[in-house]
Amino acid sequence: MNRRDWMTSLAALAAAPRAGAAQPAKATLALSDYEPKSMLHVPETKVERARFPVIDFHAHLSWSIPLGKEGKEPKHTATPQEVLTVMDRKNIRMMVNLTGGWGEVLSKTIRYWQTPHPGRFLTFTEPCWNRSAEPGYPRFQAEELARARQAGARGLKILKTLGLYLREKITTGPLVKVDDPRFDPMWEAAGALKMPVAIHTSDPEAFFLPIDRFNERWEELHAHPDWSFHGKDFPSNKVLMEARNRVAARHPRTQFVYLHVGDSENLPWVSEWMDRYPNVWVEFGARIGELGRQPRAARKFFDRYQDRILFGTDAVPHGDEYPQQVFCDALYEIYYRFLETEDEYFDYAPARIPPQGRWRIYGLGLPEQILRKVYHRNAERLLNL
Ligand SMILES: [Zn+2]
Repeated sequence: MNRRDWMTSLAALAAAPRAGAAQPAKATLALSDYEPKSMLHVPETKVERARFPVIDFHAHLSWSIPLGKEGKEPKHTATPQEVLTVMDRKNIRMMVNLTGGWGEVLSKTIRYWQTPHPGRFLTFTEPCWNRSAEPGYPRFQAEELARARQAGARGLKILKTLGLYLREKITTGPLVKVDDPRFDPMWEAAGALKMPVAIHTSDPEAFFLPIDRFNERWEELHAHPDWSFHGKDFPSNKVLMEARNRVAARHPRTQFVYLHVGDSENLPWVSEWMDRYPNVWVEFGARIGELGRQPRAARKFFDRYQDRILFGTDAVPHGDEYPQQVFCDALYEIYYRFLETEDEYFDYAPARIPPQGRWRIYGLGLPEQILRKVYHRNAERLLNL
């Protein structure tokens, strides 16, 4: 039989339905319709309440004014009562609302959340990016931080705005670098005022790659094309991370919390930073999908840096368009299951399809003394509670 005859007979064989066999499935299936159910028979532990009281270090209970816009009103994502109900059910003692804004917006945010519920809500301030091109900004910003502390803010939040959105003329011109010296007085003031800096720099590595069939976050980027930093004038992940590390190195008396584990896909690299900079901490909001798919490396990481890891979720009330962050009972149950149990191969987000990439995670089964630190003791120490 020559090759061509052989191919033809193979095709004929494939086309002919065997007696009694089900019709062959369609050759194609839309990725969005594919919802495989795991056939594993493994323990499924429901952890309704955390074993110890929780401080959620990373939440967005309000949004301040977007870059380049003016305004005086914060946008609250829920009412305190709505949030407190879930907190009480899930053993969450305190939520840290990172995006408190500055000036009047900050004061209003504090009055809405923190003042009526002391010990339950804490507020961070944000830099006034819109004034960052003005002469005198470095000093203004440092003084503004002291005013924010006076108003009740307990830390400083830096969105990925710095490095990826803020430009020399705010929304136009070249991107401002993370380690631009105009912010040095602000970093120093944060240290002097004992306000930790919660900093989000860069994003998953796949966000810097083309949105093609090799991209492991194709569905996520397809749903949120504005999250892509591929091409244009965007710096690389490495350049962003290194600039942020230079900031931490230059201000050793300031405590920096690298949000999202800094780079949860590269724990050896994060470990180098943790070893090099004793003033660096990490928080793991919206990254248990990453930690949980490398459970052995993650477990070692938690062992080694157990005194500088903070519990955080990046929770957004009604944030339904990103299920890995939607503030609800189910979200916290997943985090608790990940930290407390050795359950295998479960969903990292309450969603029909894993929203950040098509994989599942494994629990770390942390011992009690690490759980206590991660759930609340480290945050208490950092925030001087
Ligand atoms: Zn966040």
